[in-house]
Formats: sequence, C-alpha cells, structure tokens
Amino acid sequence: MTSTELTPCPACGHSVSSAARSCPECGHPIAPPSVQTIEQTSKWHKAVMLTGVLFILAGTVLWVRGCGSGPVALVGWGQWLVIIGILAYGAARVHAWWRHG
Ligand SMILES: [Zn+2]
Repeated sequence: MTSTELTPCPACGHSVSSAARSCPECGHPIAPPSVQTIEQTSKWHKAVMLTGVLFILAGTVLWVRGCGSGPVALVGWGQWLVIIGILAYGAARVHAWWRHG
C-alpha cells in the first residue's frame, strides 16, 4: 500500500494518483495540491490587500471632499471606507504572517 491519494482529473474526471504529474487517461497535467493551495492563498491575500488599499484611497478622497464643501454624509462614508480598508489590509497582513510565521 502507498500513501498517495487519488484525485479526480480536472479534465476527464479519471481517478489519478496525486503523485502523478499528468493524467494517464487524457494527459492533462495534475498540479500538486500543496502548490495549488499556496497559489490560491496568495491570490486571496493580494485581492484583499488591493481591496483594502482601494477602500483607503476612495475613503480618503470622499473624506477630503466632504470636509471641503461637500455634504456631511460624504465624510461619514469616507471615514467608514478608510476604516474598512485598514481592517481588510490588516487582516490580510496578519493572515499572511500567521501562515508563513
Ligand atoms: Zn484526464
């Protein structure tokens, strides 16, 4: 008995050993699960951090415009956008630090 797990081929659904580099049925390349998880995690980090930065930028613009001559509601929206952006950015940083030590 080996410890390799069977994983379905993403192209044809044939059960393929996770140690195999490609599907024996159709030749579709099989990515190691660990690499896939790391790629998905880093993509999630980038998406959350990018969203956080965009929220901070948009919130700062609203905040500054509202403080000038704009409606007071804009200041409140701007402050909330900045707070949410900082929280999202911070959560992504903490998550990355937690996973990678
Ligand atoms: Zn296949």
